[in-house]
Amino acid sequence: MAEQKRDYYEVLGVSKGASDDEIKKAYRKLAKQYHPDVNPDDKTAEMKFKEVSEAYGVLSDAQKRQMYDNYGHAGVDPSYGAGGGNGFGGFGGFSDFDLGSIFEGVFGGAFGGQSRRNAPQKGETLRYSLTLSFEEAAFGCEKEIAVSRAESCPDCGGSGAQKGTSPETCDNCRGTGQVKTTQRTPFGVFSSASTCPRCRGAGKIIKNPCAKCGGTGHIRRSRQIKVTVPAGIDDGQSISLRGEGGFGKNGGPRGDILVSISIKPHPIFARDGFDVMVEIPVTFIQATLGDELVVPTIDGKVKYTVPEGTQTGTIFRMKNKGIPALNGRGRGDQFVKVTIETPKNLTAAQKEALKRFGAELQSANHQSQKGFFDKMKDLFK
Ligand SMILES: [Zn+2]
Ligand SMILES: [Zn+2]
Repeated sequence: MAEQKRDYYEVLGVSKGASDDEIKKAYRKLAKQYHPDVNPDDKTAEMKFKEVSEAYGVLSDAQKRQMYDNYGHAGVDPSYGAGGGNGFGGFGGFSDFDLGSIFEGVFGGAFGGQSRRNAPQKGETLRYSLTLSFEEAAFGCEKEIAVSRAESCPDCGGSGAQKGTSPETCDNCRGTGQVKTTQRTPFGVFSSASTCPRCRGAGKIIKNPCAKCGGTGHIRRSRQIKVTVPAGIDDGQSISLRGEGGFGKNGGPRGDILVSISIKPHPIFARDGFDVMVEIPVTFIQATLGDELVVPTIDGKVKYTVPEGTQTGTIFRMKNKGIPALNGRGRGDQFVKVTIETPKNLTAAQKEALKRFGAELQSANHQSQKGFFDKMKDLFK
C-alpha cells in the first residue's frame, strides 16, 4: 500500500512559489521544534521531524523540486505508489544530501556547548539585606547576619561516598558525564551528545553514599557571618563577602554573599552622597539680630553663628562635617538651611508692639520688597 503523503509545501508551511530562503527558514524553524533531542521519546515529534526533513530534502534541491512540482511524490520517490515503500525506501539517492551542515547552523552551541555537569562549578551566590541606622552607615559598623548555606560534608569531605570508599568512574561515559547518540536518518548519520543516563552527568557513581549528606557531598548549615560595614556606605549599595557563599561543586570555588544595604531615614539629617543636609528653624528675631545657634551634626552639637539680617532659605556650609568618604579620604560637608518661623497666636499687646515697630521701620529696611513694588508699578502703569 502506498502511504498517504502530505504535500511537501504544506509540511513546511510555505507556498508553492516560496523562495529557497523561505524554504530554508521554514525548515530550520520546524526542525528545531521537532528535533529528537528537544523531544526525547516523543514518537509524534520524531515522525514530524522525519517528514519535515524529507520535504526539505526535496524542496531545497532545484532539480528534485522541479520533478516534484511536475509529478508530485511519484516524481521524486520511485517507490511511491508502487507499493511496499515505507516513505523512506526510495530515498537512496539522497545520500549526498548534507544534513550535517544544516544542523550545525540550526543547533549551533546546543550540541557542543552543553555544559558538563561534572566540571567544577562555583557555589551559589547568597543574597541578604541589612538595614542600618544613619549613623551606622556614616561611621561604619560591624554586624552579623544569619546565613544558611551549603557546606562541604565533614564526613566524606565533599565526595559523597561513605568514609573509606570513593566514587567510581562511570563506565558508561568513562567519566565524561556525556554520551554520544548516533542517529541514522535517510539523509545521513549525525550524532549528538547528551547527559549520561547512568551517572546523570556526574561522571562518577557512588556505590556507598555517605550517610550524613546522602551522597550529595554537601550539607546545609546555619552560620552567623560577620559583616564589616565601611564608613560612608550609602543606601542601595552592596557589600560582597567573597568565598562566604555556597559550597562549590566538583572542586569549584565557594560562592559569595552579597549584602545589600538600606539606611533608615533619620529624623533630622538627610543625606546626599557624603554631604549631610539639615534644616533649622529660627525665629525672625534671631534672623534679624543674628544669633549663635546650636546645630546638630553627626559628630554631636556644634555652635554656629548666623549673621544679622539672615534671610529665610539661606544655606550655610559647615566644611568637613559630613559623612566620611568611602575610600577613607576626607569627609563631605554639612549644609544648614535656615527657615524663619513666623510667630503665630500673638497676644493683643504683642500685636500692638509689632505694629508700632512696623510703623517705625523704614522701607529702606526692606530692599527686596521695595524693589518688587517698584517693578509692579512699572507693570501696571
Ligand atoms: Zn558526606
Ligand atoms: Zn556516566
